[in-house]
Amino acid sequence: MKPAPFVHHAPRTLEEAVAVLGEVGHDGKVLAGGQSLIPLLSMRLASPAHLVDVNGVAGLDAVEVTDTHVRVGALVRHAGLERHDGAAAALPLLRQALRNVAHPAIRTRGTTVGSIAHADPSGEMPAVTVLTGGVVEAAGPRGRREIAAADFFTGPLETTLAEDELVVAVRFGLLPAGTRTGFVESARRSGDYALAGVALAVGMDGDVVTSATASFVSVTPVPDVLDLGPALAGRSVGDLPLDDVAELVRSHVGPESDIHAPADYRRMLAAELTRRVLTTTTTPTEGAA
Ligand SMILES: Cc1cc2nc3c(=O)[nH]c(=O)nc-3n(C[C@H](O)[C@H](O)[C@H](O)COP(=O)(O)OP(=O)(O)OC[C@H]3O[C@@H](n4cnc5c(N)ncnc54)[C@H](O)[C@@H]3O)c2cc1C
Repeated sequence: MKPAPFVHHAPRTLEEAVAVLGEVGHDGKVLAGGQSLIPLLSMRLASPAHLVDVNGVAGLDAVEVTDTHVRVGALVRHAGLERHDGAAAALPLLRQALRNVAHPAIRTRGTTVGSIAHADPSGEMPAVTVLTGGVVEAAGPRGRREIAAADFFTGPLETTLAEDELVVAVRFGLLPAGTRTGFVESARRSGDYALAGVALAVGMDGDVVTSATASFVSVTPVPDVLDLGPALAGRSVGDLPLDDVAELVRSHVGPESDIHAPADYRRMLAAELTRRVLTTTTTPTEGAA
């Protein structure tokens, strides 16, 4: 099918984009990489009268690495962030997760901020956003505001962003020194959306775990953070209670059955993937000090 007719707006500045969004209100949609929106339009699952195409807006394509965060502008493509060595050094979880987002062709066009704004529970980057204590920077006719990731996602494809606001950037928080991260997911084919996925951050003091948090892909309605610290803190790498951790995950996630997999299978998968990523993340790599 073809999309229903729409007016294409091509603002050149953030101010122009915000002004157009303010005028068209709920009849408008921001167009970034189009990798989620264009299929929705083509299938007529969405038919906004106005598309506010932000691809020509100057100043939205930067990645900035500071002492506290990695700031990703709204036009940074998944592939650009994945290739960014400074971002990967500051927060390895970004590259670990981005490698799992779709296929390379889609990563070349789709934006990381777009996937967060889209708020698909099957997306990898919403899970990374909450796990790192991320912050969403929004702009709209009433000015600019910041929204903690924990308050941003409210349901599948639903956020606290107003219809006339756009996300200017997302800041991923850096994790405390010594934190190790891992990301693992299982999909039917490489590049497909995950049946289940896990992002993990583990604080270590030598071979003793001091803290551990996880967030999940495709098995929770909104990305949230599970604190595994009570089960793991103080335990050494050779003595991790993996069965307890798996049970915690099984009782935390709430997957739905769909055409791809039954809920029980996804629940089991999330638990087993957590067990696996915990083991690999806490095992010193060959040659490490
Ligand atoms: C075959 C296929 C497989 C895929 N597999 C995966 C996968 O495994 N994991 C995954 O995470 N994603 C996957 N995707 C989606 C891909 O990552 C998208 O690029 C991403 O979800 C949306 O980013 P986008 O820039 O393309 O946004 P668009 O498609 O342009 O927009 C998506 C939605 O977000 C809104 N939006 C976008 N940017 C902003 C902004 N700055 N401010 C406010 N609202 C905004 C739009 O209005 C729209 O509602 C897949 C896509 C395809 C086609």
